[in-house]
Amino acid sequence: MIERSPDGGAVWEQHSRVRVVPPVQPRKLAKVPFVELADGRLQGVVSSGSDIGRVYVSSIASGTHAYNCSTNNNRPCGGLYGSPCKHLRALAAEAVLQYGLDRVARYLRADVPEGADLVDCLDGSHEPAPAAMVFSRFLRHLAYLEVPDTTVPIPELHWFPAAGVRR
Ligand SMILES: [Zn+2]
Repeated sequence: MIERSPDGGAVWEQHSRVRVVPPVQPRKLAKVPFVELADGRLQGVVSSGSDIGRVYVSSIASGTHAYNCSTNNNRPCGGLYGSPCKHLRALAAEAVLQYGLDRVARYLRADVPEGADLVDCLDGSHEPAPAAMVFSRFLRHLAYLEVPDTTVPIPELHWFPAAGVRR
């Protein structure tokens, strides 16, 4: 049974809040709306430069530096001609803004000399990787990001412990 507050709403509804961890440096969310270090990959979602309705799922594996870029429907990116495409470059650049170069390089096990570009220090080749998992993680992430900075309850977050916030 759900605990009710005096005004009839469930108590957790008053406590759910989103706290977004700020990036190391400001990021351009419109260009790379989602980036994460997860599942042994730097992976994320990159907006198409030409088609506003299209996004690419890009990933770089830790260790092997195998990379992939495809649309969220698993259509291969046309920009992968033997080297990382502009989406992968954008992903890596945004990851560095989000996590800092040291952390990203460590995660990918890449040697990045002072002043070098992370992408230029990767020695992997193109290997197909499924986009669906990354894309669905992005959609879940987006569901929270789309919520404007607000004090309105977010029911999906109700399982997070309340921090004693009361109105
Ligand atoms: Zn691409």
